[in-house]
Amino acid sequence: MYMTTTAGAGLLVRAFGSQKMRDTYAEKLFTGEWGGTMALTEPDAGSSLGDMITSAVKADDGDHYLIKGTKCFISSGDHDLAPNIVHPVLAKIEGAPPGTKGISMFIVPKYRQGADGAFDVPNDVATTGVEHKLGLRGQATATLSFGEEGDCHGWLVGEENMGLKYMFLLLNHARLHTGVQATAGASAAYQCALQYSHERIQGRDLLNATDPTSPQVPIIKHPDVRHMLLQQKATVEGNIALMMTCSRLTDTIHVLKKSEEHAEDVQHAQALLEILTPCCKAFGSDSSFESIRLAIQCLGGAGFCEDYPVAQLLRDNKVFSIYEGTNGIQSLDLLGRKIPAKNGASMQALMQEIGTAISNTMKVDDLRDLAESVQELQNEVVATTMQLGGLGMSGEIPAYLCNATAYLEMFSQLVISWQWLIQATRAHELMDSGPEDPSFYKGLVETGRYYIKWTVPKALATAQIIKSDERTALNLPPECLGEVDAAV
Ligand SMILES: Cc1cc2nc3c(=O)[nH]c(=O)nc-3n(C[C@H](O)[C@H](O)[C@H](O)COP(=O)(O)OP(=O)(O)OC[C@H]3O[C@@H](n4cnc5c(N)ncnc54)[C@H](O)[C@@H]3O)c2cc1C
Repeated sequence: MYMTTTAGAGLLVRAFGSQKMRDTYAEKLFTGEWGGTMALTEPDAGSSLGDMITSAVKADDGDHYLIKGTKCFISSGDHDLAPNIVHPVLAKIEGAPPGTKGISMFIVPKYRQGADGAFDVPNDVATTGVEHKLGLRGQATATLSFGEEGDCHGWLVGEENMGLKYMFLLLNHARLHTGVQATAGASAAYQCALQYSHERIQGRDLLNATDPTSPQVPIIKHPDVRHMLLQQKATVEGNIALMMTCSRLTDTIHVLKKSEEHAEDVQHAQALLEILTPCCKAFGSDSSFESIRLAIQCLGGAGFCEDYPVAQLLRDNKVFSIYEGTNGIQSLDLLGRKIPAKNGASMQALMQEIGTAISNTMKVDDLRDLAESVQELQNEVVATTMQLGGLGMSGEIPAYLCNATAYLEMFSQLVISWQWLIQATRAHELMDSGPEDPSFYKGLVETGRYYIKWTVPKALATAQIIKSDERTALNLPPECLGEVDAAV
């Protein structure tokens, strides 16, 4: 994480900084000689970044701004792994428009350059706290106070009031990366659970359950344990497939963006990447957390202890649903922004891709029922989206968005089902050609079957709930949730 925040700061400088800024910071950040962060969050402005109050006032010499404010939860915020730390800080210049439109970005080094050229002048950045966290305990997450002495120098990145737009270059990348990190943790937990389930001998198989003289079996022989393992494999490998798809789209955009000939391909890839990013981040992290919960369950009491890595993996994973925009905010982004954007272009692009995969799988007799299930879910997702769109267009915004988290889950379950159709169809094809490792391919086909059989009916049920115009959470007066117990 120290390296990702550092590379992120380097990317911002390279993409939006002046030539002087690039010359000063880019190489030092990209080589890891200096550390980097991204400083957005404030004690009273987390999800609601537009309400931040960190201020920037142009210094008399016009060269820099004086920064004043507190940022909290800053990953890699302070440490002695590098002699200097470069903070891209979001702040508001005096007189800026209210809300997110008035946010600018500044480069604020921990040590600034002195008259002799050396970066050894303390820049009035004080570490006023270190957050004590549930997980990620190897990461220095800090509260930073800028300009307590009135002497914190910051240099404007790019243009005034463009700070959040610039930060989104990083945030979109970071959101995809968060899904990858979450899935990597779930994958490690699955490997641990799989090994344990082969080794742990406990109980008898269902046929001999009442015969104490029959031999005990490894727990992987119990269908309930296999359920838990299958669910983990389906989650991990479904998420990996989605993230590989997003990586391919990112590469496509990067490689083809300068070629006019491929302008349409780039547009299509961009449309897909935009709509899939909240799924990667939010569904990737929530499903990975659930997957690790199952890994712990496979280990029984041992899973609850520190002898195996699964407990730590669960703790570390929780943050992925919180930072880079909480999953609640991701669902608002998906339904409120990404779906209606450009007259639904992203949604159309995605449905087209899913439709192609369904048609391909329909041709495989053994898998046709899976394709039909995914087709049914696709129809329901489209119908649910149209119905919600009607609410949005008639100005009923709270009703449109009040079940956004459930919508994101259902939508993502369609997306992962799509990925499993592709994987299962290809694996089925390869099975027919007599592969060296048939159980690998059979494992893929059957895991895809498992995911679709167990997930699609639940997603269809969610669609029914949303379409029934369920508004309990929207309408419930907060006092009905009970009195606040001040002692807690
Ligand atoms: C370990 C860690 C590392 C972090 N690293 C960084 C970092 O490097 N840089 C940085 O700038 N920040 C960082 N953060 C901060 C992180 O991005 C914020 O914690 C996050 O954005 C949520 O803000 P908050 O904590 O103020 O929660 P709040 O915004 O108070 O949210 C609390 C709850 O209310 C919900 N909520 C809030 N507003 C809405 C809304 N409008 N609609 C629906 N639901 C809503 C949220 O979804 C959440 O469930 C880090 C946090 C942690 C825990």
